[in-house]
Amino acid sequence: MPTKKKAAKALSKKTTKKAVAKKVVAEKNTSKKTVATKKPAAEKKKAPVNVMGWKPGVPKEKPKGRIYDGPIRVNAKPKKSDLIFFGVGGVPHSTNPKSHPGAVRRLHELGLGVYEMEFVHGVRIRPETCDEVMAAQKETGVRVTAHGPYYINLYSMEEEKVEASRKRVLDTARALEACGGDGTCFHPGFYQKRDPAEVYAFMEKQIGELADILEKDGCPVRLDPETTGKESQFGSLAELCDMGETLKEKNTGITIDFAHIHARTAGANNTYDEFAGQLELMKNKMGEEALASMHIHLSGIAYTEKGEAHHLELDDSDMNYEDLFRALIDFGASGRVVCESPALEYDALIMQKAYRRLNGS
Ligand SMILES: [Zn+2]
Ligand SMILES: [Zn+2]
Repeated sequence: MPTKKKAAKALSKKTTKKAVAKKVVAEKNTSKKTVATKKPAAEKKKAPVNVMGWKPGVPKEKPKGRIYDGPIRVNAKPKKSDLIFFGVGGVPHSTNPKSHPGAVRRLHELGLGVYEMEFVHGVRIRPETCDEVMAAQKETGVRVTAHGPYYINLYSMEEEKVEASRKRVLDTARALEACGGDGTCFHPGFYQKRDPAEVYAFMEKQIGELADILEKDGCPVRLDPETTGKESQFGSLAELCDMGETLKEKNTGITIDFAHIHARTAGANNTYDEFAGQLELMKNKMGEEALASMHIHLSGIAYTEKGEAHHLELDDSDMNYEDLFRALIDFGASGRVVCESPALEYDALIMQKAYRRLNGS
């Protein structure tokens, strides 16, 4: 076990006092892969310096194995007027013992309402565990979604890789069905320097076929390809909205990761008008109902001119989540928000609190 050293972390202005008390323990952990910390080229262009003295979007050093173990004090009773439910991707830090069913129960205790099971390193879950998640989900009302493996590339040059990728998407959806959830998020793949139009056509065909297979099996789980954070990855909002429009008759949607879109466009897409524009695009292409069952991802994010570097805690980032919530409220959007910040439930509670304040609930 690595030696742990406690370090107090000053709470930022937005989350003072009651909100969340975080104790951060810096862990000496050199085994984790760290993102290059050299200054990106974007910094050379005159990026605006904010009051805190750092430039938005420029990656600070990636937090190394922080542990969040402080008390969480929130007034998190479910509100009738909530249209959007908040939760986390992955088992919350404060879950004990760490398991998928434990995560559902812990989120319920915290007053949160969404759990995204992360199968990012492979779909490995026992049928008994699925039953337990299903039971916990029914008992608590926490909504369960899933994130498929990172090793998915539906546009590979090698046929076996395409087959393996298709299987990973289907396995994720079937495991989610067994857990009583809905909303299978996955990253469709990479352009590999091919013509984006060609890649798009291929992806659309693949995802349409996968939705057909699930429908034939009677699997009710929706496929939600995710907007990705890097230019090299297939999945801009425009591409996924086009696909959503074409595949409207099938059980497909999108996972809209607002942090990824912000990073992918190197710092744009972070104002009320831009968020409203994104929702407008979804509505125009995929219909009103796309805003009625949204699958949203949100976190702080560090980025370079090439897009996403790594996820950040909300308060360490420039993510303008309050204006995003204002836009979601103005569009009458409903659905699920999965917090993917390193602080997980701590930041999900901050988001939920901000949403309820803005929503007048
Ligand atoms: Zn993702
Ligand atoms: Zn995401």
